[in-house]
Amino acid sequence: MSLSDRSSKRQNKIAEWETRIQLLHTKYPRLEEISQLFAQMAIELAMVELGKGKTGMGREELIKAQEALQAEKQDIMKKHKLPENIYDIWWDCEICRDTGFVEAGRKCDCRRSEEVKWRWQMSGLSPEQKLQTFESFSLEYYPEKEKYRVVVHKCMSFAEKVGKGQPAENILICGPVGTGKTHICSAIANGVLQAGKAVVYLKSGVLLDLIRQAKYYKDKNEQNENNQFMESLYRVPLLIVDDLGTENLTDFAQEQLLLLIDERINYRLPWVISTNLSLNEMDTHYELRLIDRIMGTSKVLRFSGESIRQLKKMHK
Ligand SMILES: [Zn+2]
Repeated sequence: MSLSDRSSKRQNKIAEWETRIQLLHTKYPRLEEISQLFAQMAIELAMVELGKGKTGMGREELIKAQEALQAEKQDIMKKHKLPENIYDIWWDCEICRDTGFVEAGRKCDCRRSEEVKWRWQMSGLSPEQKLQTFESFSLEYYPEKEKYRVVVHKCMSFAEKVGKGQPAENILICGPVGTGKTHICSAIANGVLQAGKAVVYLKSGVLLDLIRQAKYYKDKNEQNENNQFMESLYRVPLLIVDDLGTENLTDFAQEQLLLLIDERINYRLPWVISTNLSLNEMDTHYELRLIDRIMGTSKVLRFSGESIRQLKKMHK
């Protein structure tokens, strides 16, 4: 999937306009005559300015005649209830005429919002997660409010830095199921997307499936979309891997995860990883090299306590 092809869309709009005018002129031949006369008069007017007029009409006279034609055209259009903009190309965006740029190198708002939408679609966030922002993150059910206020603040400042393309220390979020880790991951993703940077959010199970499939295609020596997507994970401005758990990892998967992490370290591209494993559990489930690399390059934020999800349900 890619952004819409603006040049072919523009060509279609122009083709539609040409057909529309042709049909209009077939139906109302006087409108075509008026168009032609108007154009001839415009040429004559230019010639008169150069002192080379051919009809003997003066400047004033030509302008009056043009105005009369214009008025006649308006009458015909009104009489047949034709839309006022029937002679225009119907651009989706009048400001940039669908080019996406208001001037060389300066993007139009329509293009920006298209890009935001596109990045959001590519991010892998579910519609529900789009609503999980820092603003909607409530501390109501957290026993240690001050501690979590600091955690939220750290995540906000991380998202802000990544959004601005500034270096930011990776984040490892640890905590039991239902303590708000996914909400915080989504909030970071939304903040960065809003700032105009691309994000890929993946549940760790999905990432591991992708890695498995990539191996399958690699073994068959086949290029496919899946492998291209895997490669995009190396370069996306922010990668979020949610819910790293007790999956059984093959050596190959560990190797690939390590490669991904290393590549992103080399390019100074940040990540957020969340896990419901304790640091001890991580040690037993993952290769030491992998854990070392993640721990050595991340700030650890701990979510603890009872499941906020359960508490919320109880209070409903
Ligand atoms: Zn525009």
